[in-house]
Amino acid sequence: MSRPTRFEHYRWLGDKRVQVVHDLDNPIEQCSIDELMQSEQFAAFGPDTLPEAKNRNYRPCRHCVPQGRVAD
Ligand SMILES: [Zn+2]
Repeated sequence: MSRPTRFEHYRWLGDKRVQVVHDLDNPIEQCSIDELMQSEQFAAFGPDTLPEAKNRNYRPCRHCVPQGRVAD
């Protein structure tokens, strides 16, 4: 899967509908990044880091974020 061109300079992409953050370095099909881009309900973070996404109450995607599989 290719990285969305609008997000080529970002690593972390949030889905506002479900408050889940994806790692664009390893998205898989189940992440439905293309569908998310089409919905336009995505969010970028500043700084572009996982802790910042968590600060904004986004949960790590269990498909593409290794940290999403461990409880914190
Ligand atoms: Zn994902």
